Amino acid sequence: MNNMNGIKVRLVIAVVIALFSLVSYFGSGSENPITGQMQRVSMSPNQEITLGVQAAPEMARQHGGLHPDQKAQDLLDQVGIKLLSALKEYMRERSLNVASPYKFEFHLLADEKAINAFALPGGQVFITAALFKKLKSEDQLAGVIGHEIGHVVARHGAQRVSQQKLTQGLVGAAGVLGGTQESARMAMMVANVVNMKYGRGDELESDRWGIRLCHWAGYDPRAMLGVMDVLDAASGGRAPPEMMSTHPKPANRKEYIRRVLEEEFPGKYPI
Ligand SMILES: [Zn+2]
Repeated sequence: MNNMNGIKVRLVIAVVIALFSLVSYFGSGSENPITGQMQRVSMSPNQEITLGVQAAPEMARQHGGLHPDQKAQDLLDQVGIKLLSALKEYMRERSLNVASPYKFEFHLLADEKAINAFALPGGQVFITAALFKKLKSEDQLAGVIGHEIGHVVARHGAQRVSQQKLTQGLVGAAGVLGGTQESARMAMMVANVVNMKYGRGDELESDRWGIRLCHWAGYDPRAMLGVMDVLDAASGGRAPPEMMSTHPKPANRKEYIRRVLEEEFPGKYPI
């Protein structure tokens, strides 16, 4: 009898925790002003910027700090500025709110080993010297940076944070219900798979943004295909570099990039 009551209490607590997580997740919907998508994001753009600016020095430190080559840094800045003004132009043409809240900064990292590029919420964009040196043209660099700008404007980082909060809530609920560590671990595994899938979707969406931004800025978006070759060669059958651990396989991405080129700009970029 006591045991039955215990189970009931646990069930009620689990349901309350699960409901609370679901309500706060689905109650946080807002329209992304740039992509026009409805998103579950509990952070404001200003909070994203603050988070990014706070985390930036630590990210740089993990990759050996900033690269001393000012010329290379200048090129990176130029490409970034070109892509951003193309984005502004695109939004103006579509009568969208041009005043994007994000403050972009582009950092060339000293790391000569890890082939990687990434973006923090709010506009802090990074590329390692290892990847930078492997790229064969300014168009390819634009492809990489355009992809990272895509992560920022589509608010993927902020979305992940909201998903993780939901995940933690549901895992907590499952833990209470099962009363064991084991069931909480199971729930966490399921949740990770879901988050991974979102991660891949984020990557493909960013590839699409990379293609668009390159085109609008006057770069050849087909250069994205060359970037995939660089990533592919870098993996060389060994453990994949960081940038690819959450990314779909380069071969699959190449197929996707070809499709997007034809969808967005029919007949313009024959391969
Ligand atoms: Zn990415």
